[in-house]
Order: sequence, then structure tokens, then C-alpha cells
Amino acid sequence: MSTTGIIGGGLGGLAAACTLAARGHDVTLLERNSWLGGKAAVLERDGFRFDMGPTILTMPRVLERIFAEAGRELSDYLDLRRLDPQWRCFYDDGSVLDLADDRETMRRTLQDFAPGDVQGYEDFLKVANRLSEVSDRFFFWKSVEDLRDTMNMKTSMSLATLSDVLSLRMHRTVADQVKRNVKDKRLAQMLEHFIQYVGSSPLASPAVLCGIAQMQVGEGVWYPMGGTRAVPRALTRLAEDLGVTFRTGIEVERIETEGGRATAVMAAGGERMAFDRIVSNMDSVRTYRELVGGTAWENFQKGRKREPACSGVVLYLGLDRAYEHLAHHNFVFSNNPEDEFREIYDEGQPAADPTAYIAAPARTEPGVAPEGGEALYILVHTPYLREGHDWSKMLPEYRRTILDKLKRTAGMEDIEERIVTEDVLTPQDINDRYKVLDGAIYGLVSHGKVNGAFKPGNRSRQVPGLYLAGGSAHPGPGMPMALMSGWIAADSLHQDATRNTAPRDVAAE
Ligand SMILES: Cc1cc2nc3c(=O)[nH]c(=O)nc-3n(C[C@H](O)[C@H](O)[C@H](O)COP(=O)(O)OP(=O)(O)OC[C@H]3O[C@@H](n4cnc5c(N)ncnc54)[C@H](O)[C@@H]3O)c2cc1C
Repeated sequence: MSTTGIIGGGLGGLAAACTLAARGHDVTLLERNSWLGGKAAVLERDGFRFDMGPTILTMPRVLERIFAEAGRELSDYLDLRRLDPQWRCFYDDGSVLDLADDRETMRRTLQDFAPGDVQGYEDFLKVANRLSEVSDRFFFWKSVEDLRDTMNMKTSMSLATLSDVLSLRMHRTVADQVKRNVKDKRLAQMLEHFIQYVGSSPLASPAVLCGIAQMQVGEGVWYPMGGTRAVPRALTRLAEDLGVTFRTGIEVERIETEGGRATAVMAAGGERMAFDRIVSNMDSVRTYRELVGGTAWENFQKGRKREPACSGVVLYLGLDRAYEHLAHHNFVFSNNPEDEFREIYDEGQPAADPTAYIAAPARTEPGVAPEGGEALYILVHTPYLREGHDWSKMLPEYRRTILDKLKRTAGMEDIEERIVTEDVLTPQDINDRYKVLDGAIYGLVSHGKVNGAFKPGNRSRQVPGLYLAGGSAHPGPGMPMALMSGWIAADSLHQDATRNTAPRDVAAE
């Protein structure tokens, strides 16, 4: 079977490694950091344990499919717990809304919270469900780069497909769709917030991404015991069982091509490694710009502006006393979402009154903090790094903004008295630790009513023999999508490798 080199050991890289090894390929994974899992890293400090990056896990079926490639059961590798409520939402007017896991409980909650919107909420979820189904059929589990790739042209004229296309509501944004269904501003803010899973503004993202709501509300929010770090650990164990070679501390500086085709990688320090095919789990734009270059990079750029998604600041706070009124996942919403999104996405400035996400995992796994304490994780989305953003100077003031928000809106007035240990992750840290595009947490932004959902495809159109996996490639960011992206990259590679023909030589055409 063919030899494959994988650049980067984030979730996409690990998923690709497992899938390829399960199908008999000889896989070597090269990771520049000392740990595997990329952003799904862990911070242990003074008896507290924090997930450093992702905390909300949805769609475990993606992981199940990757484990099934090797005939394994996910449950033998990962202990997943379904959370209820999925989120607890705190609003500036003092009201609190739990997003219940159970639909009937949610209906009863809304009868008190926003009685005029009970039906509208159901209607929104129906739309989200339809969009999620259409995504499953046309968008997921295959390499897609634009509308052309989504459909089989032979069937595209059928009435059923036409109805699917119309259901995509290409003339609407996420915010347009939410406002059509619900009137209560607080409920609308909660529903619009699902688009933060891809680091984009609801005012500019296509309505098809409302499907994200169904992927959570319908399929649940899950916590892996051991923290989200347990996900890359499980994948690494599987990959080791399947014979993948891991090399950490290796930074790839160049992908070599012959006749336009990817043939080898060059690591810092001069080591050259030849492979039949290469998967890059490094940011897609930086892969083309920094590892490939030349005409492939020029062609990649043509026709489409590639803008990073948002970045963020994370405070990791070890508290000596827990806040009992928090759920596992909490959102402390801004007073005015339009202002907040304008500042972050249009003006490129941190929001003055931001939405803060709080994870309090001791609710589910008490061992993350010393007894009675709390390993609090607070994430606030910020713009990606712009010229003049110096977070070593911006952080002290913004830390104060975040803590003031928690005091004002989430009933945590004495938070500073409870902090016994503290650490932080800034947009600059995210940029430097994970080698992403301008500090982006979620790859490329999903703005644009027609093209917003499309990312660079997993089978490179520019460089035969090169495949892309990770949050900045199709189908996009977030744990389930990055994992799926690794599976698709592996599946595309496998199809090419077993087709018995060499990949197309673009340079010769
Ligand atoms: C603060 C934060 C909060 C988040 N919250 C959530 C959440 O709650 N739920 C959710 O689903 N998602 C969340 N995400 C997003 C999620 O973590 C990412 O979408 C996903 O982990 C990205 O995986 P990836 O495959 O793109 O790889 P990455 O995690 O980006 O890893 C890429 C790896 O490649 C390595 N690499 C890069 N270049 C090279 C090179 N040249 N040579 C060798 N190695 C290289 C890097 O070191 C890195 O390890 C969050 C992310 C962050 C940072």
C-alpha cells in the first residue's frame, strides 16, 4: 500500500491517520509540537485541570465512524456522557434560560420564558433539521469545494433535488432565518449563537449553517471523561494499534513537488522524507502559501478571498470555591449582539460588552479541581489578529472587561476573591502554538450567502497527491467537522491510491 506523510497531529491529522492505517496505508505523522491533538490540548496547574481549547463535543457519530473503519467500538476507547442542560444562558436583564436536552422539557421552559415563541422555536428546529439532512446528503463525507461539487449533475434536475436546493435559502443569512422564526430577542440571541461554533457572524453567514443547531439540539452535547483531551488520546491509541508512526518535534517547512505532484516533505533542519501522498493538517491557506508556493499558491488564491474566522481570549481560573449556579456549559450574553458582532467582525476590535462562554466541568467530573473548587474556563471571541493588535498590551484591560462582564451578568461578583491560580491564552498564543491563520480559532470565516459554507476542498485541485484535513478545509471547523475532514482527506486519498492510475499531472496539461 502507498506511503502517506501527514503534516500535523491535530484532530484532522489524527482522524486521517487512523482512517488510512485502517485501510492498510503506511502512515507517518509529523507534528511540530511535543503533544498530539493540536488545539485539543490540556493545562494542568496547582491541582486543577483545564481543557485548553475545545470543550463542547457534538456529533459523536463522526468519531464512531472513524473507529468503525478499524472495526473498533468508540466506547472501548472513550467514556462519553450526554449533558443536560446543554447550555445555561445568562442575560443582561437577569433572566436565565436552560437549553434542555429533552425537547418536551424545552417546550415547557419556553412556555414560561417566551410564550409567544414556543411554535417559532419548533419551526426553527424543523428548518435546522432539514438543513442538517441536506448537508448530510450533499456536503458531508466527501471532498467539496464549491456548489459544483455538491451535486451529481445527472440528478440535479429532479424535483427532490430542486426542493433540497430551495431549502438552502441562499438569499438569507442565519440572522434572517432566526428572526423569521422567533421574536424574543433573548431566544434569538441564543439561536444565533450556534454560528459561533464556526467563528462567524450570524449577520453575514448563510442560512444553511442553521443546520448546526440541529446537530447539537437533536444529537446532544457530550463530555468525554478525562476532558476533550481524551479525544486525541483515544485516536492516538487507535492509530498506534494500527501501526502509525508518530514523530513529534518535527516542523515541516516545504512540500516538494515533481511535475506539479506532491512527492516529499522537507523538515526544519534539512531532513527530507519522500511519500507517495501527503495530507496537510496545517492551516489550508498557510499550506499553499508557505509549504507549496509558486503557481499552485497563485491558483489557490484566484477568485476567492480567504478571510480568517474569529480568534479569542481564554482565561483559565482555578477557584477555591465553586459557583453552584453554573451548569457545565454556560453563555453569558452580551447586551447587544449587533454591536458585539459589528465590533468583532467588521471593525476588528474586541467587543466592549462581549459574550463570555464558561465551562465548569467539575459538574460532570469533580476531579478537575481540588475538592469544593472549580476549574473555570472562560472564552471570549475576539477578532483575528489585525495590524497593531499587541495582546501583551491589550490583555490586562480586556481581562478586566471579561471579569466585569461575569460580575455584572452571571452573578459572580466575588470571582476575584476566589481565584487561586490563573493562566491565559491570547490570539497571539493561538497563532504561535498551532500555526494558524492570524490567530483564527475556527479556520476560515463562513461569510457570504452563497459561498460562505464552502472551504478549500480536501483533495487539492492545485497539487495532485496533496490532501487537506482540519478546521480550515472542508467541511470546516469544530471538533466533529475537523475529524470528518480528516476522514474525507483519507477517503479521497484512498480512492486515488486504489484507482490504479497516477493522480492527474497538472503541470503536463
Ligand atoms: C480556545 C478554543 C476553543 C474551542 N472550542 C471548541 C468547542 O468547544 N467545540 C468544538 O467543537 N471546537 C472548538 N474549538 C475548535 C477546535 O478545537 C478546532 O476546530 C479543531 O481542534 C481543529 O483541529 P485541526 O485538525 O484543524 O487541527 P489543529 O488543532 O489546528 O492542529 C494542527 C496541528 O498541526 C501542527 N502543525 C501545523 N503546521 C505544522 C508544520 N508545518 N509541521 C508540523 N506540524 C504542524 C500544529 O502544531 C497542530 O498541532 C476551539 C478551539 C480553540 C482554540
